[in-house]
Order: sequence, then C-alpha cells, then structure tokens
Amino acid sequence: MPKHPSPFLSKTKYLEGLKCSKLLWYEYNRKEDLPEIDAATQAIMDQGTRVGELAHSLYPGGVKLERDYMPDKQAEKSLKAAKLRKPLFEAGFVYNRAYALADILNPVGKDAWDLIEVKSSTSVKDEYYHDVAFQKYTYEGAGLKIRKCYLMYINNQYVRKGKIDPNKLFATEDVTKHADEVIPEIEGAIADMFEAIGRTDAPRIKVGPHCDKPYPCPLEDICWDFLPPKDDIFCLYSGTKKAYELLERGALRITDINADVSLSYKQNIQVSSHRSCTPHVDKKEIKAFLNTLGYPLYFLDFETLNPAIPAYDNSRPYEAIPFQYSLYIVKDEGAEPEHRSYLAPGDKDPRPEILKQLKTLLGKSGSVVAYNATFEKTTLRHASEAYPEYQGWVSLLEERVVDLLTPFRGFFYYHPDQAGSASLKNVLPAMTKSKYDNMQIADGNMASTEYCRVTFGKNIDEKEWQCVRAALEKYCDLDTKGMIEIVRELEKVCKA
Ligand code: SF4
Repeated sequence: MPKHPSPFLSKTKYLEGLKCSKLLWYEYNRKEDLPEIDAATQAIMDQGTRVGELAHSLYPGGVKLERDYMPDKQAEKSLKAAKLRKPLFEAGFVYNRAYALADILNPVGKDAWDLIEVKSSTSVKDEYYHDVAFQKYTYEGAGLKIRKCYLMYINNQYVRKGKIDPNKLFATEDVTKHADEVIPEIEGAIADMFEAIGRTDAPRIKVGPHCDKPYPCPLEDICWDFLPPKDDIFCLYSGTKKAYELLERGALRITDINADVSLSYKQNIQVSSHRSCTPHVDKKEIKAFLNTLGYPLYFLDFETLNPAIPAYDNSRPYEAIPFQYSLYIVKDEGAEPEHRSYLAPGDKDPRPEILKQLKTLLGKSGSVVAYNATFEKTTLRHASEAYPEYQGWVSLLEERVVDLLTPFRGFFYYHPDQAGSASLKNVLPAMTKSKYDNMQIADGNMASTEYCRVTFGKNIDEKEWQCVRAALEKYCDLDTKGMIEIVRELEKVCKA
C-alpha cells in the first residue's frame, strides 16, 4: 500500500503520471525523497499566481472560491457556487477519483460553462491539451455541461502603456477539439496510474528524453546517479540523441566512445581532449579572434528582470530589462582595469539611467566585449526602442560589440573541465582560478529573482536589502572580471 494513500488524483499529479509513472509513485510513496521547491521555481509559481489573478479581472463579478485541501469539500462548495451562474475562480470538482480545479469557469447560456485555463507562457504547447482535457473530463463527469475549452496565454506583442490592460495582455485560443481528442485516453490512464501508485516498489522506468520534457524531472538526482561525476557522455556537445544511443551500448564516459562512432568536428575535439586530459588550442583561430579586439576594451555585463506582466511602460511581456551593469575599462595594453557599475536603487524604470551612464562611459571607439553578446545587444536595442533618443547611439555601438563566446562556441579553445559547455559558468572556472562556488547569487536567474524580491516584495528590511545588493554587485563583478581573465588566458595560450 502507498505510504500516503489518496483517493484522488489531482491534475498536477495526473500530468506527472503522464510524464513518468516512477515520478508519480514517488509523489505518493516517497515524497520525502523529492527535493524541496527552490527559490527560482517558487518565483515562477508566484508569477503564475499573479498572472491568474490578472486574468480573473477579465470576468467582473466572478466568485473566487477559497481553497479547501479536501477535494470532496471543495467540490461540495463548488457545486453550490455553480448555481449562482457567475464566473467561478478555483472551483474544484471530482469524478472517478480525478480532481481538478478550474482557473476560470464562465457561465454561458442557461446551463453551460466555458472552461478557461490560464498559462504564463507566450504560446500554446501540446502538453496543455492534456491539462485541459483532464479538467473537461472531470467537470463533465461531475455533472457540468462544458461548451468550450480555452487556453488563455500571454500575448508577447503587448506593449505596456500606463496601467496593464488585461484585454490586450492576454491572447485566447479555443482548444476544445484538441481536448476532445485526448479525453478517450483519460479513463485508462487514471486506472494505470492508480495501479502504479499502489505498487510496493517504484516502477522500473529507464531514463530517457522524457526526463527533461516538458520540464526537468525533480527525481533526476536519483534516477541519473549512475552517471560518473565527470566526463559523462551527456556532456557530448550537441549530442543528447547520440548520448542515449551510446548509453544503450554501455558507454558512460566520453572516453568510453569507440573509434567507430561517427562524431561531429567539435565532438571529436572533445573526445580527444577528454582522453588526453589536456585543453585543445587552435592558436590560429584564437589569434584571429583576439585581433578583432581594439583598445580601449570595455567588458560589459547586464543583469536583467523579465516579468510576464511588464513592470514598466514601453516594455513587453518577458522583455529583458537591465537593472544592473558591471563594466571594466582597459584603456590600453597592460593598463589596470577600471571598474564602473550601477544597480538600480528602487522600482523606477532603470533603463534611462543605464542608457545615459553607458553612453558616457563607452565613448566612441574601442571594443565592447560581452559573453554571449546577442543578449547584451538585444537588451540595449529594446531599451533604446523605449527611449528612442538612444537608438542612433545603440546601433553604432552594436558594431563595436565583440562576443567572447565565439572562441568557445567555435571550439578554438576547449578544456575538458568545460564538460561540453561553452557557457561562462563553465569556461571561467575551467580556464582560470575564479569559481562561482559559495556565492550567495551564482547565476542570472537567481540575480533576477533576488532583485525582484527585494525591490518589489513586501516586508523587506534595510539589512536584507543591503545584503542582496552586495551579493548582486559581487556576482555581476565576477562575470565581468572573469571576461578579462579569459582574454588574458587566451593571449597566454597563443604565446605558449
Ligand atoms: S528522472 Fe526520468 S525516469 Fe526518473 S522519475 Fe523522472 S522522468 Fe522518470
């Protein structure tokens, strides 16, 4: 018998069951082995809640049902509320041990309802059909007449002008046909899921592409722990499909790959570098890249926030808005780097101040070096669209931008410690002594989450605010300083 027997299968659990019966089994039998929700995931969930609440405003006069964690009681309350014939938010119904809560149920005609599922994404994804189908199956089973099913999602072309206009922020698509196509599978799927949940041991499921689709599985640390801590075959550059084939043939490490396996140019570099435990260096290409740099050098890095609901006028949903930059200026060969930085002090739109400062600091000549520079270029371009007086300057600046990712994405340089990745987080520690270990903020997602928390959140005291800001300064500084170190290392390997 499962440790946590439940007479119901919620929509979330049903979708987990479709992904993998082993994950579902753990949810009911070994919940304690599942990792706790991390801050980044929590931030996404909180954003989903805000998006849902905004969608409710499109249905004035609607009734929000307080959540009762007993599905039977929620269903009882919801059936009573349905008699009001008003839009219902969070109404929950049960049928055949399935339990689903509706974002929005909107009454139509005398006795029917439209079901509206609200998503924070900017497009309709296939997995949403199963989500909506499970709801329709449950509500109809519980006695509701469902006329249409809609997905309401974020319109990424919406540009905020003043107060958010939910009518323009959201797009809606009728997915009734798609839902109806999968409904016949649900009854059998539910029976199979309860059979899996009731097993004494977890179902034996092989790892596969489903582990990452439609989202990375929280059990990956357990199911994937057979891989060696270093050099595993899934580090193969652009080689996930091949890695699965090799896994079938018993290979675990990159160094296990036999000579008869056909590999790409970059993968071949990787395999021989991992075999010899030495970096691959193409001096000619590295020199050619370094020759594109012209003094003064400006090493630039942004941190950005990108909320689903635009925070500022003249911005779109999920647009990257810079709130911080770190800039190191190296005026001439051998000169000491000079540091400049900015971190927005409050919730006012930070773009005008950042554009103004950078226009002064970046001068008229010299290379602007960024890692994965498309991001910095796009961020600046979008900011200048909101503040058109900077458009001319930004388009001239773009021509001066050099991408430090180039030598690593092109495999001019490859160190086995990069583990197949050309990201700064892998390249910097592999090439230099700098590390991201033990940093309070260690990646861009965390930087954005923490900035938004202390800037827009409630009950943040001065001490916490200062502490997060210090961590943000340290993180952005490391990324930028790291770029200088990388350029110096590249120069060094060319001279060796
Ligand atoms: S990691 Fe993969 S195999 Fe393991 S439970 Fe998750 S989806 Fe299933």
